[in-house]
Amino acid sequence: MFEAKLVCTHCGAEYPLASGLYKCPKCGAPLDVTYHYDDIANLIEDDDPWFRESPHVWKYWMFLPVSNLKRIVTLNEGGTRLYRLKRLEEKLGFGKLYVKYEGENPTGAFKDRGSSVEITKALEFHARKVIVASTGNMAASVSAYGAKAGLEVTIVVPEGTPGEKLTQARMYGAKVEVFGKTYDEALAEAERKAMEEDYYLTGNYHYRVEGQKTTGFEILDQLRYNVPDWIIVPIGAGTHLRAIWKGVKEFYKVGLVEDLPRIAGAQIEGYDAIVRAWKTGKPIEKVQKKVPTIASAIAVKKPVDGENVIRAVRESDGHLDTVTNRETAEAGMLLGREGIFVEPSSATALALAKKMREEGVIDKDETVVVVATGHGLKDVKTWEKVLSGDFVV
Ligand SMILES: [Zn+2]
Repeated sequence: MFEAKLVCTHCGAEYPLASGLYKCPKCGAPLDVTYHYDDIANLIEDDDPWFRESPHVWKYWMFLPVSNLKRIVTLNEGGTRLYRLKRLEEKLGFGKLYVKYEGENPTGAFKDRGSSVEITKALEFHARKVIVASTGNMAASVSAYGAKAGLEVTIVVPEGTPGEKLTQARMYGAKVEVFGKTYDEALAEAERKAMEEDYYLTGNYHYRVEGQKTTGFEILDQLRYNVPDWIIVPIGAGTHLRAIWKGVKEFYKVGLVEDLPRIAGAQIEGYDAIVRAWKTGKPIEKVQKKVPTIASAIAVKKPVDGENVIRAVRESDGHLDTVTNRETAEAGMLLGREGIFVEPSSATALALAKKMREEGVIDKDETVVVVATGHGLKDVKTWEKVLSGDFVV
């Protein structure tokens, strides 16, 4: 409705929205959807009922690229709570510490925001069958939304994907194909099948970004447009971080906020392609070795949105670093003591917040929001191993 065009995030080439592309044909980089921001600003200005509405993904429909709101595919995603962690903020020495708990989404992970938009678009493009590569959470999420829309869903996952996530996808009726040892290999296979076998390709592409940016919208909305000093996000493919930055910038463009937060991203040790490039100033290079990790959901060797993560962090004067399995396990247990059970990869954000506070990157009076991307029930076996000492961290 208010969307304008697709723009390449690397070379700036522009394409019409109806082109059906999923990456830039010229350079292969991810694309962004842009909007007529002045029109959005006019629409929401002084719209009191809109401001009073509780946050959820489709509250922000004017920032989303759909042509018919009557045909959206939704399971009431988003609207996840923002919890203040008072005891923890005192213990660790933050001004204010919040967790945006994305485990409260319909399939237990942040991915549902993006899936709702992507599957809505799949229907607009008259797709019958969709395919997605995933480390597990996106597979379960696309399967649920595909089921809701009556589409056939095939998911491609690497060996070692947690069984809970595959069971979840199968219960939603998806076909599961195990391919390769890593997410990157599964992704190449999904893209090949999409090209050759007429699947609608879902995954870390621009329509998903549009759904995922609502995490950023909701954080600002829930803080009553008081901008936090930091938003800290786990990095797998980097799409969520990139999307949150796009979202907060869009709120800034339409005048909803007068300031921007700094964005920080956490990679798990062993899968540090972006952090290494950030620290050395060199191009992002694929991590070569597969190492044991408790954070399988973010164990990505070459993140598709790596360049966009670095740009977001640079633009926001933010921060990037790795955290260890041990730091992540400890952070997960700290969240547990606050009544919040997250999957291991989600705990990297708090682990990084703690590290940044200890290193003085975050000041003692600053407000910090950590994004916890998935529910702990998503990966119980890994926590069992940590608790029993079977995974030495
Ligand atoms: Zn390009």
